[in-house]
Amino acid sequence: MKNLSELQKKDLKHIFHPCSQMKDYENLPPMVIVKGDGLYVEDEFGNRYMDCVSSWWVNLFGHCNPRINRVINEQIEKLEHVIFANFSHEAGIELGERLTKVAPEGLNKLIFTDNGSSSTEVAIKLSFQYHLQTGNPQKKRFVSLEGAYHGETIGALGVGNMDRFTDIYRPLLKEGVKVKGPDCFKCSYGKTRENCEAECFEHMESYLKENGDSIAGVIVESLVQGVAGMKIYSPLYLKKLRKLTTEKNIHLIADEIAMGFGRTGKMFAIEHAGVSPDIMCVGKGLTAGYFPMSIVLITDRIYDAFYADYSEGKSFLHSHSYSGNPIGCRIAVETLKIFEEEDILGLIEKKGKYLKKGIERRLKDIRYLGEYRQIGLIGAIELEGIPGERAGYEIYKIALKKGAILRPLGNIIYFMPPYIITEEEIEKMIDIFILSLNEYLERFE
Ligand SMILES: *Cc1c(COP(=O)(O)O)cnc(C)c1O
Repeated sequence: MKNLSELQKKDLKHIFHPCSQMKDYENLPPMVIVKGDGLYVEDEFGNRYMDCVSSWWVNLFGHCNPRINRVINEQIEKLEHVIFANFSHEAGIELGERLTKVAPEGLNKLIFTDNGSSSTEVAIKLSFQYHLQTGNPQKKRFVSLEGAYHGETIGALGVGNMDRFTDIYRPLLKEGVKVKGPDCFKCSYGKTRENCEAECFEHMESYLKENGDSIAGVIVESLVQGVAGMKIYSPLYLKKLRKLTTEKNIHLIADEIAMGFGRTGKMFAIEHAGVSPDIMCVGKGLTAGYFPMSIVLITDRIYDAFYADYSEGKSFLHSHSYSGNPIGCRIAVETLKIFEEEDILGLIEKKGKYLKKGIERRLKDIRYLGEYRQIGLIGAIELEGIPGERAGYEIYKIALKKGAILRPLGNIIYFMPPYIITEEEIEKMIDIFILSLNEYLERFE
C-alpha cells in the first residue's frame, strides 16, 4: 500500500466500512475527515472536498451548521435521553406538532424509529397488524416496484428489488411481490416525460385488481427511485396508485426517506401528485445529517385500529432503546424551523433552475450521455456505452483529486448537494464532473 498516515493505518486495522469492498481501499485509502464546514469537508492533510452527495443524502444545510449546533448544545445541557414508553419530553412534543403540520394531509400520528430501514420494518408490521385487527387477516402481502430500495435489514430487503443488495440473502428473506414499474429513460410506450400518462401503471393495476384481497400494502419511493439511479417518474403514477389502493383497501406506503424534506422542490415528493399516503417513512434529512433518527407517520384511521383495552392484545409492539431521543427531536424541530424561516423551498427552486441551466449549457461536453434528469435539487447523469470497467467509480476517484465528492450509482453520476450550495459552487461542481469525465476518457484515446 502507498504511504498511509497513522490514522489511516489504524482505520484499516479495525474498521470494516459500509458498502465497500475493503480491498479497494488499497488504491483509495479512507479519507479521514477532521472537519466539516458548510459544503466542505476537510481531511487530515488539509484537502477540502465539496460534498456533492450530502454525505449519503442526509445533510441539508451544510456541515457544522451554526443553528443546529446551537440547539444540540442547549438540548444536551437539559436532557440527553429518557425512556419514551410512559415518558415524554418537550422536543418530541414540539416535533409532533410541527411535523404533522407540514406533512401531507391526514398523517397525524408519529412512531419513532432510528434509521430508514427500521422505519420500513415498522410500516410493514403496522400495515399487516392493521388489517389483522380490522377483519382482514388474509391481507398479508406487500407489493413494491422493480428497482425499489427501502433499506437493507432483512424485512426491508424483502420489499426491495436491487439484486446487488438482495441476491445473497434471498434464502433468508420473506419476499414481497415485485411489479414492473416506470422506466422513463427507456419508456416502452414510446412516451416522453411531457406526454406521459403513466401508461406503465397497467402492470400494477392488473396485479392489484386480481390480487387486491390478499395485499396489505404497496410501498413506493415517492417520485424518484434513488438507489436504482435517481430514476424520476411521473406523479401521475402515484395519483393512479392512490386511487386504486383506496378502492382495494390497500395501504399506500410512501418511502420519503431520501426525497422528503425538500429534495424534489416540495416538502415531500408525494405532494407533486397531490395525494396523501396512509403511511409515510421519513429519515435521512429529518435530522439534517446530524443524528440517526427516522419516523413513520400514519393516519388516525390506522392509529384507531390499535386503540383498545390492554387485554385485547392490539398494542403495537415496536421499540428501540433510543426511540424518540430528545437530541434527535430537537435537531428535527430546528430543521423544520429553518425550512420555515429561511424559505428553503424557494431556495431549492432557484438553485435547481441554476443547476439545470448550467448542465444544459454543457450537454455537448458530456460524452456518452444517455440521459440527464433532474427535479428540485437533484440531478443525475446516466452515462451509456462508456468504455472501461467501473467507469463511474473511476470518474469518482478523479473528481476526488479535484476536490468534489461525486460518489456514483454504477455509471450514474448525480448531484445532490446540501441546499446551501452557492451558484458559483454549482458551476464548479459541474466543471469538476466534466473535467473528470474527460480525464477518464483520455485513457481510451
Ligand atoms: C436510505 C434509504 C433507506 C434506508 O435508510 P437507512 O437510514 O440507510 O437505513 C430506505 N429507503 C430509501 C428510499 C432510502 O434512500
